[in-house]
Amino acid sequence: MTKVIFFDTKPYDKVNFDKLKAQYGVDITYVDSQLDEHSAAMAKGFEVTCAFVNATINKNVIDQLVESGTKLLAMRCAGYNNVDIQATCDRIRVVRVPAYSPYAVAEHAMALLLSLVRKIPHAYVRTREFNFSLIGLVGFDLHGKTIGIIGTGKIGRIFADICNGFGMKVLAYDAYPDPSLKIQYVPLETLFAESDIISLHCPLNESTNHLINHDSLKIMKDGVILINTSRGALIDSDSLLDALRSRKVGGAALDVYEEEKNLFYNDTSTQIMEDETLALLISMPNVLVTSHQAFLTNDALYNIAKTTLQNIQDWKNGAPLVNEVCIDCKNENMPLVCKKKVHP
Ligand code: NAD
Repeated sequence: MTKVIFFDTKPYDKVNFDKLKAQYGVDITYVDSQLDEHSAAMAKGFEVTCAFVNATINKNVIDQLVESGTKLLAMRCAGYNNVDIQATCDRIRVVRVPAYSPYAVAEHAMALLLSLVRKIPHAYVRTREFNFSLIGLVGFDLHGKTIGIIGTGKIGRIFADICNGFGMKVLAYDAYPDPSLKIQYVPLETLFAESDIISLHCPLNESTNHLINHDSLKIMKDGVILINTSRGALIDSDSLLDALRSRKVGGAALDVYEEEKNLFYNDTSTQIMEDETLALLISMPNVLVTSHQAFLTNDALYNIAKTTLQNIQDWKNGAPLVNEVCIDCKNENMPLVCKKKVHP
C-alpha cells in the first residue's frame, strides 16, 4: 500500500477517495490542516503528499517534505501556481489533475453571470422574507451583449459555447489562440474596450498577474461586468474596489480572490473580517462572491479522485507520469516538453 498524507481534507473530498483508494493500492491519512511551513512536518513517514489549491508549497515546505521522506507531491487540482516548481526539481516529483470537469467551472461562470445581472441573491433573500417587491431588481438581457473571454483553453472554450447559446457576441483573447476554434480573437485592448462583460479563464502567471488593474479598467466600457473563476490575483482587488466605487464597473462576480488563502474553504462567520478589501467587496450590492467552488460538482470530485489515485499508482509502478509538472512545463503556454523526458 502506498502511504499518502492528504492535507486540507473536506468531507466532500473523502467520499470519492474512500470509494476508490483500495483499487489503487493507496492508504490515505486525512488531515484537516492546509499544507504550509507549519504543517509540513506532518508528512514525516509518508512517501506521497497530497495537497490542494490554497496550500503554500514554497522552497521551505519542499525542503521539509524532502526531509520527511515525501517522494511525490500529488496536487489534486489543475493549477500549480502555489508550488515552487524550481525547488522540486530532481528532489520530489509533482503531478496534478490537468482536467477534471471544465464544464463545472464554465457552468459556474454562467451561473454567476446570470445571478449577478438578474439579481437572484437579492430576489431570493426578499422572497424568503415574503417581500415580493421588484424595485431595485431590474436586470438586463444577455442576448445581444458582447462578452470578452480571456483564455480559450479547456474552460474558456466551453464558456464561449455557452455564451453563444445565449445569443451573445463572443470576443476572445488568448496568448496562444487556437485557429481551429470558431471564435473571434481580438487584441486584448480591443476586448477590454468593446466588451459589456469580461470573463477570465487564463492561468495566473507573471504575465497575467493583475491583468485587471487601474490601467486596463480605464479602457473598459462604463458599467462593465467582470467574472473571475480563474485565479484571484488576475484582478488587482484595490483597483476593482475603486472602479466599483466610481461606477466604472457595474458588477463583479468572483469565485476567487487574491487573498483567499486563509479564508476560502473555512467558516469565518463568527470572526471579525480582517481583510477590509474583501469586506468592502462583499458589502457591495453588485458584487457576488463564491468561495472558490466553481469546480465543486460530483462529476469533478470523482474525476479528481480517480486521476490523483491513478497518478499515485503510476508513480508507484514506475510508469510514465503523464500528468507530471516539471521545470520546463511550468509555463502553461508552452507545450509539455520535459527535460526529464517524462513527456513525449
Ligand atoms: P487551460 O490551460 O486549458 O487554458 C488556459 C488558456 O489560457 C490557454 O488557452 C492558454 O493559452 C491561455 N493563456 C495563457 N496565458 C495567457 C495570457 N497571458 N493571456 C491570455 N490567455 C492566456 O486551463 P483551463 O483548464 O481552461 O483553466 C483555466 C484556469 O481556470 C486555470 O488556470 C485555473 O486557474 C482556473 N480554474 C479554476 C477553478 C475553480 O474552481 N475556480 C477550477 C479549475 C481551474
